[in-house]
Amino acid sequence: MNRLIIRNGRLILPNGIKNGLALICADGKIIDIKEERSYDIQDDDEVIDAYGRYVSPGFIDIHVHGGGGHDFLDGSVEAFLTIANMHARHGTTGIVPTLATCSHNDLFESFEVYRKAKSMNKEGADLIGLHLEGPFLSRAKSGAQDPSFIMDPSPEKYMPMLEASDDIVRFTIAPELPGAIAFGDELAKRGIVASVGHTAAVDKDVFDAAMHGYSLMTHFYNAMSSVTKRGIYRIAGAVEAAYLINDMNVEVIADGIHQPETILKTIYRFKGPDRTALCTDALSGAGMPDGVYNLGSMKDGTKIVKEDGVGKLMDRSALAGSMATTDTLVRNMIRLAGASLFDAVAMASATPARIMGIYDRKGSICVGKDADIVIFNDDIYIDHTIVGGRIVYGIRPDSYIKFKDDFAI
Ligand SMILES: [Zn+2]
Repeated sequence: MNRLIIRNGRLILPNGIKNGLALICADGKIIDIKEERSYDIQDDDEVIDAYGRYVSPGFIDIHVHGGGGHDFLDGSVEAFLTIANMHARHGTTGIVPTLATCSHNDLFESFEVYRKAKSMNKEGADLIGLHLEGPFLSRAKSGAQDPSFIMDPSPEKYMPMLEASDDIVRFTIAPELPGAIAFGDELAKRGIVASVGHTAAVDKDVFDAAMHGYSLMTHFYNAMSSVTKRGIYRIAGAVEAAYLINDMNVEVIADGIHQPETILKTIYRFKGPDRTALCTDALSGAGMPDGVYNLGSMKDGTKIVKEDGVGKLMDRSALAGSMATTDTLVRNMIRLAGASLFDAVAMASATPARIMGIYDRKGSICVGKDADIVIFNDDIYIDHTIVGGRIVYGIRPDSYIKFKDDFAI
């Protein structure tokens, strides 16, 4: 049995950060956590010396459209593999490919492409299911989503989608639309995460939704109602409702641009690390130079311009998605929101895993879980990314230190 041993690191475990432990992986899983010097290294072991860097659970990005010049709606296996690899180089070990609102044909084709890509993905972040961001959204809050494909959720529209793919793990829906509450019940029955987003809901709509399967807020604050006025009276919106519902999870685009520092701090303080997942919502331009990129299908997607480190609509009237990678999100939560490194990592690993219902196998360093690991320095620059026990990014030969006893810590 070929083992992968990661030694000499600061392990980020569920109960704290610990030195003096080595992580032992085999067959894609974490099989042991041992005191240094209490194990033997065998000839066929692969050994990474972390040189005192952090050894962390891999980051899980539950909302991402693309990167490396591709969008998940490009319609090709190559797009999926390129995006999964690009994000893995920045610490993402699990990814929920997100399909923007698109035509019926593009959507159903993507189900097929996803299945093929999943079986061929050896060098990228693990594909953990599809997120459909639309078409059941509010026209008033469509943002960069193509309004011409937006519709109300009726069983005639959504049942064929649910029947065509077993890979859908998440749906973003505006809960105030007619039919959205029944749709939430249907998703809950199937174990699919219903997420409130691109919504003009008032508080009551979200309170109702929370009792019918909705458990997450899609890019909290972005494309989402807050306090509005009807006549002379003030009405609370989706944002306020999400704070009042204790069980409601939120995801936040912590690229440092979509949310200013004060909002990041507010989310961190009042929703807390156990209810807040960091997501990139990255577009195809992530990991690429400034320029014009596509959101959604190559044929009829929306053009987006990348500048100032973010994606904007071509008329610069609104943000259209981020150009971030998960390492940046963790760094921002520490630097801008004042989160501890431990909490920032939890928001990028354990919390998204719990939200997606996969914490039994991902999201923390525990014996028996998938060997999805990232190694990074104090500034969260990624040194190695390991997905299912495979090193998909890292300076491999130089870090093979065998039978060496000089512990850096
Ligand atoms: Zn999105």
